[in-house]
This record gives sequence, C-alpha cells and structure tokens, in this order.
Amino acid sequence: MYTEILIRYGELMIKGKNRNKFIRKLADRLHTVFPEGEGVEVKITPTRAFLELQENADVDAIIEKLKTVFGIASISLAIKVPTDIEAISQAAILIAEKEISDTQTFKVDTKRSYKPFPMESLVVTKHVSSEIFKARQIPLKVDVYNPDRQLLIEIRKEFSYVMLDKIKMSGGLPQETSGKALLMLSGGIDSPVAGYLAMKKGIELVAIHFASPPYTSEKALDKVAQLTEILEKYQTDIPLYIVPFTEIQLAIVNSNIQEGYHMVIMRRLMYRIAEQLAEQHDCKAIVNGESVGQVASQTLGSMRSTHSVVDLPILQPLAMSEKNDIIKIAIEIDTYATSILPFEDCCTVFVPKKPTTNPNRYISQQQENLINVTALVENAIENTKIIEKRTNNAQLL
Ligand code: ATP
Ligand code: MG
Repeated sequence: MYTEILIRYGELMIKGKNRNKFIRKLADRLHTVFPEGEGVEVKITPTRAFLELQENADVDAIIEKLKTVFGIASISLAIKVPTDIEAISQAAILIAEKEISDTQTFKVDTKRSYKPFPMESLVVTKHVSSEIFKARQIPLKVDVYNPDRQLLIEIRKEFSYVMLDKIKMSGGLPQETSGKALLMLSGGIDSPVAGYLAMKKGIELVAIHFASPPYTSEKALDKVAQLTEILEKYQTDIPLYIVPFTEIQLAIVNSNIQEGYHMVIMRRLMYRIAEQLAEQHDCKAIVNGESVGQVASQTLGSMRSTHSVVDLPILQPLAMSEKNDIIKIAIEIDTYATSILPFEDCCTVFVPKKPTTNPNRYISQQQENLINVTALVENAIENTKIIEKRTNNAQLL
C-alpha cells in the first residue's frame, strides 16, 4: 500500500548557512545505506528526503537501516498521490481502513507546503476527515489532542503525501558534519556507547585500543575488532589502531612509582599517546567512555590529573550517565552482548590493589619522572598498527 517513506530532517543544522552541507552529508549517507539498484530509491529535496519503495519492500528492515542514519528527526510511511483532493481523500480512506482499528482515536493533520493549492490546510483536514467518516461503517473517534493514530497529509506542488503517524528516528547530526575525533576503545561497555554518541553528533571516528600482550590475549583484540564492526553500522569504515602498551605497563610496575599512582601514570601515558595519534589522523578531540565516579580512575581528581597532560578537548559523552542508562543504549546499538564477553583489559591486568582516588597533579608529575615518558610514548606510537577487522580473526597488519 505505501509507496514511499517520507524523511524529515533534524532541526538543528537545517537553519542557517550549514543547511546545504547538512543535507549533502545526509544524502551521501542515505546513498551508502541504500545503494542504487537494490530496490530502494533515494530522492533528496531541500526540505524532505524520500525513499521510493518497491511493491514487496521489507519496510521494517528499511526502518532499521534508517535508524543508523543520523540527522533524521522522524519518518512516515506514505502513499504518494497527485496533488488533487480526490486522490488525497482516497489514500486517506485506504490507510484508515487498513491501519486504524475501531477502538482507536485519530486525527487528520494537513501541511500545505504548496501554497497555490486552492484549499487551506484546515479545509483539507475537515474534508478528508468527513470522507473517512462517510467511508466507515463503524465511525472512528477523533481526538485532536492525544490521538492514537495520526493521518498526516503533506501537500506539495506536483505530488502530495498521505501518511500514517510519525516514527521517531535517531536524530543527531549527519555523518562527518562535525569533524574527526579519536575514540579510545576498550572492550568494555562504555567506550562503544561513547563512540556511538559521538557519531550521532556528526563526529567521524578513528579508534585506538591499548593492548598488553601477552597479558591480554588475541581474543581481546577480536573483541575490540568486533565492537568496531558493530559501530560500522553508523560509519562505513572506522579505522582501528592497536597501541602496544606492555612495555609501558611493565616500566611502571617495575619502577619506584608509588603503587597508588600506577593507574594515574598509566592513564597519563594513554592520553599522551592518544593525543599524538589524534594529531596524526587530523582528529580535533579525544572521545572516551569515562563516567564520573564510576571507578577510582574516574573521580574528578583523577581526571584533573590525567587530562592535564593533553591540550586536545576530551569529550566524555557518558560523563554524567548512570550505568543502567549506558547499558540500555549498549543493548539498543547491539554492542552489549559483545562487551560483556569475558576479556582482559590492559587496565585491569595491571590494576593496583589500592589506587589513589584523589591523585595530586604535581605528585603525578613527579612520580612520572621515575620512568622515561618521552621514549616510552614514542616507542608505543612507532609500533602502533592498524588492524584488519575480521570477526574472530583480527589481524595486525
Ligand atoms: P569501558 O567500559 O569503556 O571499558 P570502564 O568503565 O572500564 O570503560 P576504564 O577502564 O576506567 O573504564 O576506562 C575509561 C575509558 O578509558 C574507557 O571508556 C575507554 O575509553 C578508555 N580505555 C580504557 N581501557 C582502554 C584500552 N585498553 N584501550 C583504549 N581505551 C581504553
Ligand atoms: Mg574497561
């Protein structure tokens, strides 16, 4: 019955001078998700996008794919008709018959984008409502404030659209409209969610993972590769770099650094490496999954001490989130099941029994001088390798 999906752009960027860029990037992404010749035709206009559906289109699958496209506020399943009141009424009657049950309330809402159309919006709404009443044996109830179903009519120049309900989409900003950032991706629950939220803001990701073989296994690498692949639902290719971290951790553990400061120093080196790799890859920020107070290394004091070693902004989408809410998103975006698989993280392998929860920035600096920070960081960066993501068989190149 439906011939199209009507796509409403997100509100934020559409106003002002970024509008064209916003639409172009959204269009690029739609064309990637629905390649030509695969049954779903994409049409872009300055105010709406449309997906033309073939007769047997799998609408649910298409909607799932649309959820991976950021910058869309909502969509509606639509019947496209010539801009003519008779055709509009017929389509509305058809949708009402097929989709609205006798016990549901409804309302008709008309948007007249094509002003020369001779009937005003309210007149169209009244006309179509009364046509629906006439066509039904058991009359439907109207509820203008809180209807169960909405019949939406959008009148455009040549063709008009008669639709059922608005389906909320992911929102956000289209891919690559906010520049690039470096994601610190562990195998845990939080960082993939942080990466997703960054992409949702139009940020293009490059991911890095710190690995400490042989203390962390190949399985841990597979897991991170797998998580990256899941996130590639939202960004076609997320390069994943593996940073060798064993030498640094051994240097810390075997140094005279106070045990309580091991974690802080380790994280300070992580940030230094992240920043340099970010610069190499033209990233303007670092994204990670830190959440205030979640563990010892995520107190404000720890953050003060660790973040102070870098200049790039550190974006922490989950800073104020509760674990339960983070898990909800992880389940929605399909990373949760992979994240909870058992694995060793480089942080947990070497975690001290009693990490300082309120490290002093100056003591951190002093303690750090007990190892050769510059050489260790340089060496780690030199030996950083991109990984080819092949689920269950990740390979360093
Ligand atoms: P996550 O669930 O993302 O692992 P977490 O709650 O375990 O986070 P931490 O281990 O303190 O928290 O790590 C905080 C953040 O530091 C992570 O969210 C991630 O962004 C980054 N991080 C931690 N370990 C690694 C790693 N091995 N490689 C890359 N980034 C890491
Ligand atoms: Mg972790």
